[in-house]
Amino acid sequence: MYDIIIVGAGPAGLTAALYAARAGKKVLVAERDNVGGQILYAPMVENFPSRMSVSGETFAEQLFAQAEATGAEFLYDEVTGVTRTEDGFTVSFTDGSETCRALILATGVVHRKLGVANEEELIGSGVSYCATCDGAFYKGGDVAVIGGGNTALGDALFLSGICRKVTLIHRRNLFRAPHALAQRVENAENIEVLYSHTVEQLLSRDGAVTGILVRSSESGETRKIPVDGVFVAVGRIPNNEAFRPLVMLDGSGYILSGEDAITGVPGVFAAGDCRKKTVRQLTTAVSDGTVAAIAACDYLAGLE
Ligand code: NAP
Repeated sequence: MYDIIIVGAGPAGLTAALYAARAGKKVLVAERDNVGGQILYAPMVENFPSRMSVSGETFAEQLFAQAEATGAEFLYDEVTGVTRTEDGFTVSFTDGSETCRALILATGVVHRKLGVANEEELIGSGVSYCATCDGAFYKGGDVAVIGGGNTALGDALFLSGICRKVTLIHRRNLFRAPHALAQRVENAENIEVLYSHTVEQLLSRDGAVTGILVRSSESGETRKIPVDGVFVAVGRIPNNEAFRPLVMLDGSGYILSGEDAITGVPGVFAAGDCRKKTVRQLTTAVSDGTVAAIAACDYLAGLE
């Protein structure tokens, strides 16, 4: 039996693993996808204290190595459900199950789709949700980025270094991303920002993106923009459905927990982007992982 099973190996889960393993706990981290979570998609992280600039991938690799070196174990499978037992929890995976006395949910989020016709069919043929992963395919080409948050602006800047031209399309006239990032985007020579525009249609020929049809919400006018690729960065959806029977979720599917990581279910803690909170940053994810690990250790000490 593990002391603590941590679901999710993003920055929150890996930090929780680091703290819990360093506290001498027997820790298992379960990850269904890639270690690193959403930060893998960040081309460059420039707002993590003490790091001037680091790629999301490097950040994740180093945090994983650190957690593993402290003795945390890793299991690569998807959690299908959790049941409460007399002395803790049974966590079921697609292949088998494991038991633990405390559980930390650090499940993170997935990319939200734009919701226009043909979007699914054109994934990999001009539609992408990851500039870091796919940007190089559009070297020298013209691309559009959709969204007005941290991700969209970061992607637009990253792509501006690879592509001939980047058109950034935001549905409002004010970015959600911080002012400093917005200024860098506005100062970039090959980024054109279209505020108050929405994407009506993805244009394609022979199964590949050739452009987008956008509409101005101010004038109502539409126009076609020829592009080779469309990078969708319109937010994220929490990965919490498997845990709906266990913990309370809000209307958007985020786990209800306090800043102390406590979920209301004894022995279950939540950390990172998967929980209801106002700020979702790398710094707050690692902070959450710390708090959740210490709370889980305190809970285990209380049992003993
Ligand atoms: P986000 O902050 O939720 O922004 C999503 C953007 O997409 C918003 O501008 C939103 O417009 C727009 N949008 C949503 N649905 C849309 C639709 N159907 N059509 C067109 N536009 C749509 O998402 P994010 O940028 O992925 O960031 C997620 C979280 O991670 C945030 O808390 C962010 O701060 C954090 N993050 C942090 C870092 C870092 O620490 N370096 C890097 C990346 C992300 P409105 O503004 O009109 O709602």
